[in-house]
Amino acid sequence: MPNNRYGACRPVAADRKNALKDTFGRKIEYLRLSITDRCNLRCRYCMPEEGVESVGHGGILSYEDLLRIAAAATRLGVSKIRVTGGEPLVRKGIVGFVKELAALPGQPEITLTTNGLLLDQMAADLKQAGLSRVNVSLDTLREDRFEQITRRPGLQRVLDGIHRAAAVGLAPLKINMVPIREVNADEIADFGRLSLEHPWEIRFIEFMPVSGGLGYSAENRFSAQEIMTELESIGPLTPVERSGPAGPARLFRYRDSPGRVGVIPAISSHFCGECNRLRVTADGRIRPCLLCSDELDIREALRRNASDAELEELLRAAVVAKPRQHRVGEKDYKEGSRGMQKIGG
Ligand code: SAM
Ligand code: SF4
Repeated sequence: MPNNRYGACRPVAADRKNALKDTFGRKIEYLRLSITDRCNLRCRYCMPEEGVESVGHGGILSYEDLLRIAAAATRLGVSKIRVTGGEPLVRKGIVGFVKELAALPGQPEITLTTNGLLLDQMAADLKQAGLSRVNVSLDTLREDRFEQITRRPGLQRVLDGIHRAAAVGLAPLKINMVPIREVNADEIADFGRLSLEHPWEIRFIEFMPVSGGLGYSAENRFSAQEIMTELESIGPLTPVERSGPAGPARLFRYRDSPGRVGVIPAISSHFCGECNRLRVTADGRIRPCLLCSDELDIREALRRNASDAELEELLRAAVVAKPRQHRVGEKDYKEGSRGMQKIGG
């Protein structure tokens, strides 16, 4: 049995028989793998200016370990794997890793979330390796603001990366924007307009108070309702029916637009009922819920060369530990110690 800590997020009952179906009937088929906690940006809502003390090579899971986890997950029915970080494109060997992930039995769909700085030079190789899509995080279309939010220059490089990714067929391309009050929320309409010109999905994510000590607090959150009001200032929106599995984004399109917009009400309304995912942090912890600090240690199992069956058992235990819903906003909710760059978003 894993030495996991069950705290406030503990589920009320556990059913170990249903592989990757949790206590609340949710089917878990999506794994997010964080492959590094390092990053070439310092976004104020994610990382402190000085960066974070990296857990170093010894503490980060090797690609071999990550592949063992991914293989165990696909044996249990996971069909989609997202590679994230930190910034995943700064880790050496990422293209080869993507290739091995894509070749796993069951051929899961491989996607990646990136800040886009290195995408221009890497998009073609990633596509060739078997990556199907990318989400690019971009919070402003203005160079001075880019530097203010990320504490680094580079807007044009990100834009070049986005266009290159779309050109090589990493589609449908998604852009993630986190609107922050009095910082970039006045650009929501400009981002929405991108969906009028390009077949991209522009997603607006409510700021989440995942860890303390960052540049913004809960008061800076721009709510899903406020985001919708800004988007509707361009024109009426029609809801889009999903063709694939439900995700957290509520999707809409403008009349005749090639792209669409999505709003992710991470905090203001629970989308937890549709949660279909598990996360693995770069230092080898399975995190059943993004917004609960409870974790299970899979690195320890990998270090003692645990069997495939043990790894599967750990993944099942993490699924059983998934809470019904997060508790952000409740009186006794406390921010965790890990920033988003440690969890992978
Ligand atoms: N470095 C990559 C990137 O920025 O896309 C991948 C990792 S990043 C932690 C993943 C996602 O988390 C990004 O889209 C980022 O905007 C989002 N994110 C980080 N901190 C956040 C916060 N406090 N609230 C909401 N989203 C956040
Ligand atoms: Fe780096 Fe992504 Fe966090 Fe920005 S959001 S600091 S790019 S990990």
